[in-house]
Amino acid sequence: MDTEISARLFERARAVIPGGVNSPVRAFDSVGGTPRFIARGEGAELVDADGNRYLDLVNSWGPLLFGHVPAEVREAAVDAIGRGSSFGAPTEGEIALAEAIVDAVPSVDKVRLVNSGTEAGMSAIRLARGATGRRKLLKFVGHYHGHSDALLVAAGSGVATLGIPGSPGVTDGAAEDTVLVPWNDRDAVAEAVQVHGHDLAAILCEPVPANMNLVAPEDGFLAFLRAQADASGAVLVFDEVISGFRVARGGAQQLHGVTPELTVLGKIVGGGFPLAAFGGRAELMDALAPAGPVYQAGTLSGNPVAVAAGLAQLRLLTDDVYARLGVVTDGLVDGLRTAFDAAGVPAQVLRHATLAGVLFAETAPRRYEDVAAADHARYARFFHGMLERGVYLAPSGYEVIFPSTALSDAHVERIVTAADEVARML
Ligand SMILES: *Cc1c(COP(=O)(O)O)cnc(C)c1O
Repeated sequence: MDTEISARLFERARAVIPGGVNSPVRAFDSVGGTPRFIARGEGAELVDADGNRYLDLVNSWGPLLFGHVPAEVREAAVDAIGRGSSFGAPTEGEIALAEAIVDAVPSVDKVRLVNSGTEAGMSAIRLARGATGRRKLLKFVGHYHGHSDALLVAAGSGVATLGIPGSPGVTDGAAEDTVLVPWNDRDAVAEAVQVHGHDLAAILCEPVPANMNLVAPEDGFLAFLRAQADASGAVLVFDEVISGFRVARGGAQQLHGVTPELTVLGKIVGGGFPLAAFGGRAELMDALAPAGPVYQAGTLSGNPVAVAAGLAQLRLLTDDVYARLGVVTDGLVDGLRTAFDAAGVPAQVLRHATLAGVLFAETAPRRYEDVAAADHARYARFFHGMLERGVYLAPSGYEVIFPSTALSDAHVERIVTAADEVARML
């Protein structure tokens, strides 16, 4: 596989962009090698600058549920841009997207649109603090909620990939109100709530954690968090930036039947454009300015092009889509399990609804430490073996597989065949 043009572009990029990338995990630091520079996407495939084609299992880290450039999303975005790219004034499209979100997500009565998941998570926490008059937030080790200061503590994937626990530049002051607890550990949650309860503004989690590979909540754990929030008066916040519109149309809260006060959305909701959202109970959301005192704003928030693309994508989310995603996920998971078994490679092919993950470990993970202890060097070899065979996996063993409906049965077959070959070399 010729990668000469990508190598040259990476060289050029490093001269003017820190590390050559605009988001760290794109740089292949944890798997080694040169990142592929992408020229275009076509349905299930990425095409790099050298013309190599890859079946895409990353899909922009989740947003592209239908693969690259679905006609409906493209038409909606092109149509919108012809009417103007931004107004800094309200538009009808924002109402339609808000209505679509409220319709889909059980806990959301009102919603505000922002530009990134980071912004949505940061704003949801400010709202929880503003509404409760409390300071502290309970966060789980390895859960990622964007890179705002208070949330960039033991934050999984991107940070874990770099091997740094938090980040220089995050002050003790910003981090000291963040209480850390291991995932799936009821005793630790109960103890933290006992100690900090009177000052706990929010209990925040990824209900389906997908930034420390994939570590599903154990039976009843989300309901337990609901009960702990009720008992302490803390706001339960589900970060569904990945799980929203993916594990089910109404996200993990629909799948598991547990309702948070606030929900953070991103990725799929923007149809591949910079758009995210946070929403929840009306009385809580009405604490936001200008209805209430908690300030939150954005020049490009509710951008008409992003809104049109997001709305077009949400309108495509039928039951058939989730059924098809399930079939694609089944094919990938079963095929990968068979490949690793046949090769005698100890691997956990993790799966929760329409998300999957590959972890080279003897047992299924319960919490972040289990994922950190897995064989990440072996993941790097698996990643490169697959890449050479035209399959684009996430360049880090802390990340998941994001199936899309653009993958045909024949595509799944090709991926499984590649995995079978690579597994024998591990
Ligand atoms: C990606 C992600 C974010 C951050 O979203 P950005 O748009 O990258 O800022 C927050 N939470 C979760 C669970 C995510 O996966």
